[in-house]
Amino acid sequence: MSKYLFITGGVVSSVGKGVTAASIGTILKGRQISVSAQKLDPYLNVDPGTMSPYQHGEVFVTQDGAETDLDLGNYERFIDVNLTGESSVTSGQIYSAVIAKERRGDFLGGTIQVVPHVINEIKEHFKRLAQKSQAEVVIIEVGGTVGDIEGQPFLEAIRQMRNDVGRDNVLYIHVTFLPYLTSTQEVKTKPTQHSVNELRRIGIQPDIIICRSDYPISDGIRDKISLFCDVDRQAVIALPTVSTIYEVPLVLEEAGLGQIIVDKLNLNAHHKDLSQWQELVRRLKTPRQPVNIALVGKYVELKDSYFSVREALHHAALYHNRGTNLLWIASEALEKDGGDALLRSAQGIIVPGGFGIRGIEGMIKAATYARENKIPYLGLCLGMQVMVIEFARYVLGSTKPNSTEFDASTPYPVIDLLPEQKGVENKGGTMRLGNYPCQLVEGTRAACAYGQSLIYERHRHRFEFNNQFRTQLEEAGMVYSGVSPDGRLVEVCELANHPWMVSCQFHPEFSSRPNNPHPLFRDFIGIAKDVLREGAQPALPLSA
Ligand code: GLN
Repeated sequence: MSKYLFITGGVVSSVGKGVTAASIGTILKGRQISVSAQKLDPYLNVDPGTMSPYQHGEVFVTQDGAETDLDLGNYERFIDVNLTGESSVTSGQIYSAVIAKERRGDFLGGTIQVVPHVINEIKEHFKRLAQKSQAEVVIIEVGGTVGDIEGQPFLEAIRQMRNDVGRDNVLYIHVTFLPYLTSTQEVKTKPTQHSVNELRRIGIQPDIIICRSDYPISDGIRDKISLFCDVDRQAVIALPTVSTIYEVPLVLEEAGLGQIIVDKLNLNAHHKDLSQWQELVRRLKTPRQPVNIALVGKYVELKDSYFSVREALHHAALYHNRGTNLLWIASEALEKDGGDALLRSAQGIIVPGGFGIRGIEGMIKAATYARENKIPYLGLCLGMQVMVIEFARYVLGSTKPNSTEFDASTPYPVIDLLPEQKGVENKGGTMRLGNYPCQLVEGTRAACAYGQSLIYERHRHRFEFNNQFRTQLEEAGMVYSGVSPDGRLVEVCELANHPWMVSCQFHPEFSSRPNNPHPLFRDFIGIAKDVLREGAQPALPLSA
Protein backbone atom coordinates (compact mmCIF):
# COMPACT_ATOMS: atom_id res chain seq x y z
CA MET A 1 0.00 0.00 0.00
CA SER A 2 1.22 3.49 -0.82
CA LYS A 3 2.09 6.01 1.84
CA TYR A 4 1.07 9.64 1.44
CA LEU A 5 3.17 12.71 1.86
CA PHE A 6 1.10 15.89 1.83
CA ILE A 7 2.69 19.25 1.23
CA THR A 8 0.98 22.51 2.16
CA GLY A 9 2.19 26.07 1.85
CA GLY A 10 2.05 28.91 4.31
CA VAL A 11 2.58 32.68 4.55
CA VAL A 12 2.93 33.52 0.84
CA SER A 13 2.75 31.75 -2.49
CA SER A 14 5.60 31.45 -5.01
CA VAL A 15 8.19 30.32 -2.48
CA GLY A 16 9.00 27.18 -4.43
CA LYS A 17 6.61 24.67 -2.89
CA GLY A 18 6.48 22.80 -6.19
CA VAL A 19 10.26 22.54 -6.45
CA THR A 20 10.36 21.42 -2.81
CA ALA A 21 7.79 18.69 -3.51
CA ALA A 22 9.72 17.61 -6.60
CA SER A 23 12.99 17.62 -4.63
CA ILE A 24 11.52 15.37 -1.97
CA GLY A 25 10.79 13.01 -4.85
CA THR A 26 14.44 13.16 -5.88
CA ILE A 27 15.75 12.31 -2.42
CA LEU A 28 13.32 9.43 -1.99
CA LYS A 29 14.10 8.07 -5.44
CA GLY A 30 17.78 8.32 -4.52
CA ARG A 31 16.96 5.71 -1.86
CA GLN A 32 15.35 3.41 -4.43
CA ILE A 33 11.88 4.29 -3.11
CA SER A 34 9.32 4.54 -5.92
CA VAL A 35 7.37 7.78 -5.97
CA SER A 36 4.57 9.44 -7.85
CA ALA A 37 3.27 12.97 -7.48
CA GLN A 38 0.02 14.87 -7.67
CA LYS A 39 -0.84 18.56 -7.66
CA LEU A 40 -4.11 19.86 -6.25
CA ASP A 41 -5.14 23.20 -7.69
CA PRO A 42 -7.96 24.94 -5.85
CA TYR A 43 -9.20 27.07 -8.78
CA LEU A 44 -12.49 26.27 -10.49
CA ASN A 45 -11.07 25.87 -14.01
CA VAL A 46 -11.25 22.22 -15.00
CA ASP A 47 -7.63 22.53 -16.13
CA PRO A 48 -5.24 25.43 -16.78
CA GLY A 49 -5.52 24.85 -20.55
CA THR A 50 -7.86 27.76 -21.06
CA MET A 51 -5.92 30.18 -18.84
CA SER A 52 -3.62 32.88 -20.14
CA PRO A 53 0.04 32.11 -19.43
CA TYR A 54 0.12 35.47 -17.65
CA GLN A 55 -2.30 34.04 -15.07
CA HIS A 56 -0.71 30.72 -14.46
CA GLY A 57 2.55 30.39 -16.36
CA GLU A 58 3.18 27.54 -18.75
CA VAL A 59 0.60 24.84 -19.37
CA PHE A 60 2.43 21.54 -19.01
CA VAL A 61 1.17 18.65 -21.16
CA THR A 62 1.44 15.03 -20.01
CA GLN A 63 1.97 12.13 -22.39
CA ASP A 64 -1.68 11.16 -22.13
CA GLY A 65 -2.70 14.66 -23.14
CA ALA A 66 -3.72 16.36 -19.90
CA GLU A 67 -3.14 20.12 -19.76
CA THR A 68 -1.71 20.71 -16.32
CA ASP A 69 0.03 23.02 -13.91
CA LEU A 70 3.72 23.71 -14.55
CA ASP A 71 4.63 22.03 -11.27
CA LEU A 72 4.06 18.70 -13.01
CA GLY A 73 6.98 19.59 -15.25
CA ASN A 74 9.19 19.93 -12.19
CA TYR A 75 7.96 16.62 -10.82
CA GLU A 76 8.84 14.93 -14.13
CA ARG A 77 12.27 16.56 -14.34
CA PHE A 78 13.20 15.91 -10.71
CA ILE A 79 11.74 12.44 -10.30
CA ASP A 80 12.36 11.36 -13.89
CA VAL A 81 8.92 9.83 -14.36
CA ASN A 82 6.27 10.38 -16.98
CA LEU A 83 3.10 11.37 -15.17
CA THR A 84 -0.46 11.20 -16.43
CA GLY A 85 -3.58 13.31 -16.09
CA GLU A 86 -4.23 11.56 -12.73
CA SER A 87 -1.48 13.73 -11.29
CA SER A 88 -3.37 16.94 -11.83
CA VAL A 89 -6.52 17.65 -9.84
CA THR A 90 -8.45 20.92 -9.76
CA SER A 91 -11.54 22.00 -7.86
CA GLY A 92 -13.18 22.39 -11.26
CA GLN A 93 -12.67 18.67 -11.98
CA ILE A 94 -13.87 17.66 -8.54
CA TYR A 95 -17.06 19.71 -8.65
CA SER A 96 -17.82 18.68 -12.26
CA ALA A 97 -17.47 15.02 -11.29
CA VAL A 98 -19.70 15.36 -8.23
CA ILE A 99 -22.36 17.27 -10.15
CA ALA A 100 -22.25 14.75 -13.02
CA LYS A 101 -22.83 11.94 -10.49
CA GLU A 102 -25.73 13.84 -8.98
CA ARG A 103 -27.32 14.31 -12.43
CA ARG A 104 -26.94 10.61 -13.13
CA GLY A 105 -28.75 9.85 -9.92
CA ASP A 106 -25.81 8.14 -8.26
CA PHE A 107 -26.62 9.63 -4.86
CA LEU A 108 -30.13 8.21 -4.68
CA GLY A 109 -32.00 11.28 -3.53
CA GLY A 110 -29.41 12.41 -0.98
CA THR A 111 -28.45 16.00 -0.34
CA ILE A 112 -25.12 16.66 -2.02
CA GLN A 113 -22.68 18.51 0.23
CA VAL A 114 -19.05 19.52 0.40
CA VAL A 115 -18.69 17.10 3.31
CA PRO A 116 -18.82 14.21 2.53
CA HIS A 117 -19.35 14.19 -1.26
CA VAL A 118 -16.76 16.67 -2.46
CA ILE A 119 -14.22 15.49 0.10
CA ASN A 120 -14.76 11.86 -0.85
CA GLU A 121 -14.31 12.69 -4.51
CA ILE A 122 -10.95 14.34 -3.69
CA LYS A 123 -9.82 11.34 -1.64
CA GLU A 124 -10.76 9.05 -4.51
CA HIS A 125 -8.22 10.90 -6.65
CA PHE A 126 -5.47 10.30 -4.08
CA LYS A 127 -6.26 6.63 -3.90
CA ARG A 128 -6.62 6.22 -7.64
CA LEU A 129 -3.15 7.62 -8.28
CA ALA A 130 -1.71 5.41 -5.54
CA GLN A 131 -3.35 2.36 -7.06
CA LYS A 132 -2.44 3.14 -10.65
CA SER A 133 1.15 4.14 -9.99
CA GLN A 134 1.79 1.46 -7.35
CA ALA A 135 4.31 3.94 -5.93
CA GLU A 136 5.58 3.39 -2.41
CA VAL A 137 5.15 7.08 -1.70
CA VAL A 138 2.68 9.45 -3.31
CA ILE A 139 3.66 13.08 -2.89
CA ILE A 140 0.63 15.36 -2.98
CA GLU A 141 1.06 19.11 -3.13
CA VAL A 142 -1.84 21.35 -2.19
CA GLY A 143 -1.72 24.47 -4.35
CA GLY A 144 -2.19 27.94 -2.87
CA THR A 145 -1.62 28.93 0.74
CA VAL A 146 -3.23 27.70 3.94
CA GLY A 147 -6.11 30.05 4.74
CA ASP A 148 -7.36 30.40 1.15
CA ILE A 149 -11.14 29.89 1.06
CA GLU A 150 -11.10 27.65 -2.02
CA GLY A 151 -8.37 25.41 -0.66
CA GLN A 152 -10.38 24.28 2.35
CA PRO A 153 -11.95 21.11 0.88
CA PHE A 154 -8.50 19.88 -0.13
CA LEU A 155 -7.15 20.48 3.38
CA GLU A 156 -10.11 18.67 4.92
CA ALA A 157 -9.51 15.75 2.55
CA ILE A 158 -5.83 15.46 3.47
CA ARG A 159 -6.75 15.72 7.16
CA GLN A 160 -9.14 12.79 6.85
CA MET A 161 -6.52 10.66 5.12
CA ARG A 162 -4.53 10.17 8.32
CA ASN A 163 -7.54 8.50 9.87
CA ASP A 164 -8.46 6.62 6.70
CA VAL A 165 -5.13 4.99 5.94
CA GLY A 166 -3.43 5.05 9.32
CA ARG A 167 -1.09 7.38 11.15
CA ASP A 168 2.10 5.68 10.00
CA ASN A 169 1.13 6.06 6.39
CA VAL A 170 0.64 9.81 6.20
CA LEU A 171 3.03 12.69 6.66
CA TYR A 172 2.34 16.42 6.57
CA ILE A 173 5.02 18.83 5.45
CA HIS A 174 4.41 22.56 5.65
CA VAL A 175 6.53 24.90 3.51
CA THR A 176 6.63 28.44 4.84
CA PHE A 177 8.47 31.65 4.23
CA LEU A 178 10.49 33.58 6.81
CA PRO A 179 10.57 37.29 5.94
CA TYR A 180 13.61 39.41 6.70
CA LEU A 181 13.36 42.86 8.29
CA THR A 182 16.11 45.14 7.08
CA SER A 183 15.64 47.66 9.90
CA THR A 184 16.29 45.12 12.65
CA GLN A 185 18.26 42.75 10.43
CA GLU A 186 16.36 39.69 11.52
CA VAL A 187 14.40 36.83 10.07
CA LYS A 188 10.88 36.68 11.51
CA THR A 189 8.95 33.54 12.51
CA LYS A 190 5.58 35.01 13.46
CA PRO A 191 3.90 34.53 10.03
CA THR A 192 4.98 30.87 10.15
CA GLN A 193 3.51 30.47 13.62
CA HIS A 194 0.24 31.94 12.37
CA SER A 195 0.06 29.72 9.35
CA VAL A 196 0.79 26.61 11.44
CA ASN A 197 -1.94 27.75 13.85
CA GLU A 198 -4.30 27.97 10.91
CA LEU A 199 -3.39 24.41 9.90
CA ARG A 200 -3.90 23.12 13.42
CA ARG A 201 -7.27 24.91 13.63
CA ILE A 202 -8.47 22.62 10.86
CA GLY A 203 -6.89 19.60 12.50
CA ILE A 204 -3.57 19.17 10.73
CA GLN A 205 -0.42 19.12 12.84
CA PRO A 206 2.57 19.36 10.50
CA ASP A 207 5.29 16.74 11.05
CA ILE A 208 7.94 18.72 9.22
CA ILE A 209 8.30 22.43 8.54
CA ILE A 210 10.48 23.61 5.68
CA CYS A 211 11.45 27.24 6.04
CA ARG A 212 12.22 29.14 2.88
CA SER A 213 14.22 32.29 3.32
CA ASP A 214 16.45 34.59 1.35
CA TYR A 215 18.67 34.88 4.43
CA PRO A 216 20.46 32.38 6.66
CA ILE A 217 18.33 30.83 9.38
CA SER A 218 20.01 30.51 12.76
CA ASP A 219 19.57 27.59 15.14
CA GLY A 220 17.79 29.99 17.50
CA ILE A 221 15.13 30.63 14.86
CA ARG A 222 14.69 26.90 14.29
CA ASP A 223 14.35 26.35 18.06
CA LYS A 224 11.66 28.97 18.22
CA ILE A 225 9.68 27.41 15.36
CA SER A 226 10.10 23.97 16.89
CA LEU A 227 8.78 25.19 20.25
CA PHE A 228 5.85 27.25 19.06
CA CYS A 229 4.76 24.96 16.23
CA ASP A 230 5.34 21.77 18.21
CA VAL A 231 7.53 20.12 15.61
CA ASP A 232 10.68 18.10 16.36
CA ARG A 233 13.75 20.31 16.38
CA GLN A 234 15.45 18.37 13.57
CA ALA A 235 12.24 18.42 11.54
CA VAL A 236 12.45 22.19 11.17
CA ILE A 237 14.42 22.41 7.95
CA ALA A 238 16.02 25.58 6.62
CA LEU A 239 15.85 26.06 2.87
CA PRO A 240 17.70 29.22 1.91
CA THR A 241 17.48 30.52 -1.66
CA VAL A 242 19.97 28.71 -3.90
CA SER A 243 21.44 29.58 -7.29
CA THR A 244 19.87 26.68 -9.20
CA ILE A 245 16.63 24.88 -8.44
CA TYR A 246 18.41 21.56 -8.99
CA GLU A 247 20.36 22.19 -5.79
CA VAL A 248 17.25 22.03 -3.61
CA PRO A 249 17.27 18.21 -3.20
CA LEU A 250 20.87 18.37 -2.00
CA VAL A 251 20.16 21.15 0.51
CA LEU A 252 17.20 19.20 1.89
CA GLU A 253 19.21 15.99 2.02
CA GLU A 254 22.06 17.75 3.77
CA ALA A 255 19.60 19.01 6.37
CA GLY A 256 18.56 15.41 7.06
CA LEU A 257 15.12 15.51 5.47
CA GLY A 258 15.46 12.19 3.65
CA GLN A 259 16.19 10.24 6.82
CA ILE A 260 13.42 12.01 8.75
CA ILE A 261 10.85 11.04 6.09
CA VAL A 262 12.12 7.46 6.00
CA ASP A 263 11.89 7.21 9.79
CA LYS A 264 8.53 8.88 10.18
CA LEU A 265 6.89 6.91 7.38
CA ASN A 266 8.72 3.76 8.35
CA LEU A 267 9.90 3.24 4.80
CA ASN A 268 12.02 0.46 3.47
CA ALA A 269 14.98 2.53 2.36
CA HIS A 270 17.70 0.82 0.40
CA HIS A 271 21.14 2.25 -0.03
CA LYS A 272 21.22 5.94 -0.70
CA ASP A 273 22.76 7.19 -3.92
CA LEU A 274 22.42 10.79 -4.98
CA SER A 275 25.76 10.83 -6.77
CA GLN A 276 24.29 11.54 -10.22
CA TRP A 277 22.38 14.47 -8.84
CA GLN A 278 25.43 15.74 -6.96
CA GLU A 279 27.44 15.55 -10.15
CA LEU A 280 24.70 17.43 -12.01
CA VAL A 281 24.73 20.25 -9.46
CA ARG A 282 28.51 20.37 -9.37
CA ARG A 283 28.57 20.82 -13.13
CA LEU A 284 25.74 23.36 -13.05
CA LYS A 285 27.61 25.46 -10.51
CA THR A 286 30.88 25.38 -12.41
CA PRO A 287 31.15 28.52 -14.52
CA ARG A 288 30.65 27.71 -18.18
CA GLN A 289 30.95 29.88 -21.26
CA PRO A 290 27.41 30.93 -22.17
CA VAL A 291 25.65 30.50 -25.49
CA ASN A 292 23.43 33.49 -26.39
CA ILE A 293 19.97 32.26 -27.26
CA ALA A 294 17.17 34.65 -28.24
CA LEU A 295 13.78 33.44 -27.09
CA VAL A 296 11.25 35.33 -29.20
CA GLY A 297 7.78 35.03 -27.71
CA LYS A 298 4.60 36.77 -26.84
CA TYR A 299 4.60 36.25 -23.08
CA VAL A 300 8.25 36.98 -22.22
CA GLU A 301 7.37 39.38 -19.40
CA LEU A 302 6.45 36.33 -17.36
CA LYS A 303 9.34 33.91 -17.63
CA ASP A 304 7.26 31.10 -16.10
CA SER A 305 5.28 31.05 -19.37
CA TYR A 306 8.24 29.26 -20.92
CA PHE A 307 9.37 27.27 -17.90
CA SER A 308 10.05 23.96 -19.67
CA VAL A 309 11.64 25.66 -22.69
CA ARG A 310 14.08 27.47 -20.43
CA GLU A 311 14.89 24.30 -18.52
CA ALA A 312 15.34 22.29 -21.73
CA LEU A 313 17.82 24.93 -22.96
CA HIS A 314 19.75 24.70 -19.70
CA HIS A 315 19.89 20.90 -19.92
CA ALA A 316 21.08 21.01 -23.52
CA ALA A 317 23.74 23.64 -22.79
CA LEU A 318 25.02 21.65 -19.83
CA TYR A 319 25.43 18.63 -22.09
CA HIS A 320 27.90 20.68 -24.15
CA ASN A 321 29.52 22.08 -21.00
CA ARG A 322 28.10 25.48 -21.76
CA GLY A 323 25.80 27.90 -19.97
CA THR A 324 22.85 29.74 -21.46
CA ASN A 325 22.49 33.45 -21.75
CA LEU A 326 18.82 33.84 -22.59
CA LEU A 327 17.81 36.99 -24.42
CA TRP A 328 14.09 37.36 -23.72
CA ILE A 329 12.68 39.20 -26.71
CA ALA A 330 9.05 40.34 -26.89
CA SER A 331 8.14 39.50 -30.47
CA GLU A 332 6.28 42.82 -30.82
CA ALA A 333 9.59 44.63 -30.29
CA LEU A 334 10.91 43.04 -33.48
CA GLU A 335 8.03 44.55 -35.45
CA LYS A 336 9.42 48.06 -34.96
CA ASP A 337 11.93 49.54 -37.42
CA GLY A 338 15.43 48.45 -36.51
CA GLY A 339 14.03 45.76 -34.21
CA ASP A 340 16.45 43.30 -35.80
CA ALA A 341 19.23 44.88 -33.75
CA LEU A 342 17.88 42.92 -30.78
CA LEU A 343 19.03 39.72 -32.47
CA ARG A 344 22.56 40.92 -33.17
CA SER A 345 24.24 38.87 -30.48
CA ALA A 346 21.99 35.78 -30.75
CA GLN A 347 23.86 32.60 -31.60
CA GLY A 348 20.55 30.76 -31.88
CA ILE A 349 16.90 31.77 -32.10
CA ILE A 350 14.03 29.89 -30.57
CA VAL A 351 10.35 30.60 -31.21
CA PRO A 352 8.22 28.70 -28.69
CA GLY A 353 4.50 27.90 -28.63
CA GLY A 354 1.72 30.42 -28.38
CA PHE A 355 -1.78 31.40 -29.37
CA GLY A 356 -3.38 34.44 -31.00
CA ILE A 357 -2.21 37.05 -33.48
CA ARG A 358 -0.37 39.48 -31.20
CA GLY A 359 3.35 39.52 -31.97
CA ILE A 360 3.14 37.03 -34.86
CA GLU A 361 4.73 39.39 -37.41
CA GLY A 362 7.68 39.87 -35.03
CA MET A 363 8.16 36.12 -34.80
CA ILE A 364 8.06 35.88 -38.59
CA LYS A 365 10.77 38.55 -38.71
CA ALA A 366 12.87 36.47 -36.35
CA ALA A 367 12.48 33.49 -38.71
CA THR A 368 13.47 35.63 -41.71
CA TYR A 369 16.50 36.82 -39.80
CA ALA A 370 17.50 33.27 -38.92
CA ARG A 371 17.04 32.05 -42.48
CA GLU A 372 18.88 34.93 -44.14
CA ASN A 373 21.74 35.11 -41.66
CA LYS A 374 22.02 31.33 -41.28
CA ILE A 375 21.47 31.51 -37.53
CA PRO A 376 20.36 28.21 -35.91
CA TYR A 377 16.61 28.24 -35.35
CA LEU A 378 14.40 25.95 -33.33
CA GLY A 379 10.63 26.35 -33.73
CA LEU A 380 8.29 24.74 -31.22
CA CYS A 381 4.69 24.25 -32.32
CA LEU A 382 3.74 27.86 -33.13
CA GLY A 383 7.44 28.32 -33.90
CA MET A 384 7.13 25.73 -36.66
CA GLN A 385 4.01 27.38 -38.06
CA VAL A 386 5.89 30.70 -38.08
CA MET A 387 8.80 29.12 -39.94
CA VAL A 388 6.44 27.71 -42.58
CA ILE A 389 4.62 31.03 -43.04
CA GLU A 390 7.93 32.85 -43.35
CA PHE A 391 9.32 30.42 -45.90
CA ALA A 392 6.11 30.50 -47.93
CA ARG A 393 6.20 34.30 -48.03
CA TYR A 394 9.76 34.13 -49.32
CA VAL A 395 9.05 31.40 -51.90
CA LEU A 396 5.83 32.95 -53.18
CA GLY A 397 7.21 36.48 -53.06
CA SER A 398 4.16 37.66 -51.19
CA THR A 399 3.34 38.95 -47.73
CA LYS A 400 0.00 37.15 -47.83
CA PRO A 401 0.79 33.56 -46.76
CA ASN A 402 -0.47 33.04 -43.23
CA SER A 403 -2.15 30.72 -40.79
CA THR A 404 -5.93 30.87 -40.81
CA GLU A 405 -5.60 31.39 -37.05
CA PHE A 406 -4.32 34.91 -37.81
CA ASP A 407 -5.90 35.68 -41.19
CA ALA A 408 -9.01 33.67 -41.99
CA SER A 409 -9.19 34.95 -45.57
CA THR A 410 -5.56 34.60 -46.64
CA PRO A 411 -5.20 33.38 -50.26
CA TYR A 412 -2.30 31.16 -49.06
CA PRO A 413 -3.42 29.34 -45.91
CA VAL A 414 -0.15 27.46 -45.41
CA ILE A 415 -1.21 26.64 -41.86
CA ASP A 416 -4.82 25.63 -41.42
CA LEU A 417 -7.12 23.97 -38.91
CA LEU A 418 -6.65 20.24 -38.44
CA PRO A 419 -9.65 18.54 -40.10
CA GLU A 420 -10.76 17.08 -36.76
CA GLN A 421 -10.74 20.60 -35.30
CA LYS A 422 -13.26 21.96 -37.80
CA GLY A 423 -16.55 22.43 -36.03
CA VAL A 424 -15.05 22.18 -32.54
CA GLU A 425 -16.63 24.97 -30.52
CA ASN A 426 -15.58 24.20 -26.96
CA LYS A 427 -12.22 25.59 -25.95
CA GLY A 428 -11.36 23.35 -22.97
CA GLY A 429 -9.37 20.16 -23.62
CA THR A 430 -10.33 20.01 -27.30
CA MET A 431 -6.97 20.50 -29.01
CA ARG A 432 -4.82 17.74 -30.45
CA LEU A 433 -3.25 16.78 -27.15
CA GLY A 434 -0.59 14.44 -25.84
CA ASN A 435 1.63 11.82 -27.43
CA TYR A 436 1.41 11.03 -31.13
CA PRO A 437 3.82 8.94 -33.19
CA CYS A 438 6.04 10.52 -35.80
CA GLN A 439 8.10 8.82 -38.46
CA LEU A 440 11.45 10.49 -39.11
CA VAL A 441 13.04 10.58 -42.53
CA GLU A 442 16.50 9.11 -42.69
CA GLY A 443 19.34 11.51 -43.37
CA THR A 444 17.53 14.59 -42.04
CA ARG A 445 18.83 16.70 -39.18
CA ALA A 446 15.89 15.62 -37.06
CA ALA A 447 16.56 11.90 -37.64
CA CYS A 448 20.22 12.49 -36.95
CA ALA A 449 19.36 14.18 -33.62
CA TYR A 450 17.06 11.40 -32.43
CA GLY A 451 19.10 8.52 -33.77
CA GLN A 452 15.91 6.52 -34.26
CA SER A 453 13.09 6.53 -36.77
CA LEU A 454 9.85 6.28 -34.79
CA ILE A 455 9.35 8.80 -32.02
CA TYR A 456 6.46 9.83 -29.76
CA GLU A 457 6.08 13.45 -28.79
CA ARG A 458 3.57 15.62 -26.92
CA HIS A 459 1.23 17.89 -28.85
CA ARG A 460 -1.02 20.81 -28.01
CA HIS A 461 -2.40 22.60 -31.06
CA ARG A 462 -5.39 23.11 -33.34
CA PHE A 463 -3.60 24.07 -36.54
CA GLU A 464 -1.24 22.18 -38.82
CA PHE A 465 0.78 22.39 -42.01
CA ASN A 466 -1.55 22.59 -45.04
CA ASN A 467 -0.67 19.78 -47.47
CA GLN A 468 -1.79 21.86 -50.47
CA PHE A 469 1.54 23.66 -50.21
CA ARG A 470 3.70 20.63 -49.53
CA THR A 471 5.22 20.16 -53.01
CA GLN A 472 5.72 23.83 -53.73
CA LEU A 473 7.66 24.46 -50.52
CA GLU A 474 9.57 21.21 -50.86
CA GLU A 475 10.79 22.23 -54.31
CA ALA A 476 12.10 25.45 -52.79
CA GLY A 477 14.11 23.64 -50.12
CA MET A 478 11.83 22.72 -47.25
CA VAL A 479 12.41 19.18 -46.00
CA TYR A 480 9.65 17.28 -44.20
CA SER A 481 11.82 15.39 -41.79
CA GLY A 482 9.03 13.95 -39.66
CA VAL A 483 5.49 12.99 -40.61
CA SER A 484 2.66 11.08 -38.96
CA PRO A 485 2.89 7.34 -39.78
CA ASP A 486 0.04 7.69 -42.29
CA GLY A 487 2.01 10.48 -43.97
CA ARG A 488 -0.87 12.93 -43.57
CA LEU A 489 0.56 15.38 -41.03
CA VAL A 490 3.86 17.23 -41.20
CA GLU A 491 5.30 17.00 -37.68
CA VAL A 492 8.90 18.16 -38.23
CA CYS A 493 10.36 20.31 -40.99
CA GLU A 494 13.73 21.83 -41.75
CA LEU A 495 15.45 23.88 -44.40
CA ALA A 496 17.90 22.25 -46.78
CA ASN A 497 20.06 25.30 -47.44
CA HIS A 498 20.61 26.31 -43.86
CA PRO A 499 23.01 25.08 -41.17
CA TRP A 500 20.20 24.17 -38.74
CA MET A 501 16.69 25.51 -39.07
CA VAL A 502 14.49 22.79 -37.61
CA SER A 503 10.97 23.02 -36.26
CA CYS A 504 8.44 20.65 -34.83
CA GLN A 505 4.69 20.71 -34.45
CA PHE A 506 5.03 19.13 -31.00
CA HIS A 507 6.54 20.27 -27.71
CA PRO A 508 9.89 18.56 -27.11
CA GLU A 509 10.59 20.81 -24.12
CA PHE A 510 8.25 18.75 -21.92
CA SER A 511 10.35 15.61 -22.11
CA SER A 512 13.81 17.09 -21.54
CA ARG A 513 15.52 15.98 -18.34
CA PRO A 514 18.52 17.57 -16.58
CA ASN A 515 20.69 14.52 -17.18
CA ASN A 516 19.11 13.64 -20.49
CA PRO A 517 18.55 16.66 -22.72
CA HIS A 518 16.05 16.45 -25.54
CA PRO A 519 17.83 15.59 -28.82
CA LEU A 520 16.49 18.60 -30.73
CA PHE A 521 17.52 21.04 -28.01
CA ARG A 522 20.85 19.25 -27.68
CA ASP A 523 21.67 19.60 -31.37
CA PHE A 524 20.32 23.15 -31.55
CA ILE A 525 22.71 24.28 -28.80
CA GLY A 526 25.44 22.06 -30.24
CA ILE A 527 25.44 24.07 -33.44
CA ALA A 528 24.59 27.46 -31.91
CA LYS A 529 27.53 27.32 -29.51
CA ASP A 530 30.00 27.65 -32.38
CA VAL A 531 28.26 30.53 -34.11
CA LEU A 532 30.19 33.78 -33.82
CA ARG A 533 28.13 36.91 -33.24
CA GLU A 534 28.63 40.51 -32.32
CA GLY A 535 30.54 40.83 -29.08
CA ALA A 536 31.57 37.18 -29.06
CA GLN A 537 35.17 36.18 -28.62
CA PRO A 538 36.40 33.25 -30.65
CA ALA A 539 37.75 30.56 -28.36
CA LEU A 540 41.53 30.61 -28.20
CA PRO A 541 43.11 27.57 -29.79
CA LEU A 542 44.44 25.28 -27.09
CA SER A 543 48.20 25.07 -27.11
CA ALA A 544 49.72 21.64 -26.97
N1 GLN B 1 -1.76 28.43 -31.96
C1 GLN B 1 -1.20 27.32 -32.65
C2 GLN B 1 -2.19 26.18 -32.81
O1 GLN B 1 -3.19 26.13 -32.14
C3 GLN B 1 0.05 26.84 -31.96
C4 GLN B 1 -0.19 26.22 -30.62
C5 GLN B 1 1.05 26.06 -29.78
O2 GLN B 1 2.08 26.66 -30.05
N2 GLN B 1 0.97 25.28 -28.73
O3 GLN B 1 -1.99 25.31 -33.62
